[in-house]
Amino acid sequence: MSEELPVILERKNIKPTAMRLLVLDFLMNQPSAISLTDLEKGLEPCDRITVYRALKKFEESGLVHHIDDGTGITKYAFCAEECNPGHHHDLHVHFFCNTCKQTSCLPKTQIPQVSLPEGFHKEEVSLVVKGTCNLCYTLQ
Ligand SMILES: [Zn+2]
Ligand SMILES: [Zn+2]
Ligand SMILES: [Zn+2]
Repeated sequence: MSEELPVILERKNIKPTAMRLLVLDFLMNQPSAISLTDLEKGLEPCDRITVYRALKKFEESGLVHHIDDGTGITKYAFCAEECNPGHHHDLHVHFFCNTCKQTSCLPKTQIPQVSLPEGFHKEEVSLVVKGTCNLCYTLQ
């Protein structure tokens, strides 16, 4: 486990409990976004509620964001940029690979500004591109 983990949590004013450090370490080492179920499996025998609470805490604090990739299963990914509590700046595009079914963050590809008609107020914007990821493409 990296020494920097407690520092990452403390910067977000999160108390670095053993459980939170475990969840953070696991999340940071994922090549793609992960569902709560897979997170639990990876952290077994940790208690589901505890894992979920740690995840929610991270999300509230701007460390982790959730992704609705259209599969009906919410995925979570570590925020690569400086997100603040209650305000995520990483409005990047996500990519869903139809072959390996993995969802990845594309932090360098920002979601373009969306203009709405008068009287409409946005709460969340997400953009998911579906196709073949670089790994699956080279294996074809
Ligand atoms: Zn974020
Ligand atoms: Zn793929
Ligand atoms: Zn993302």
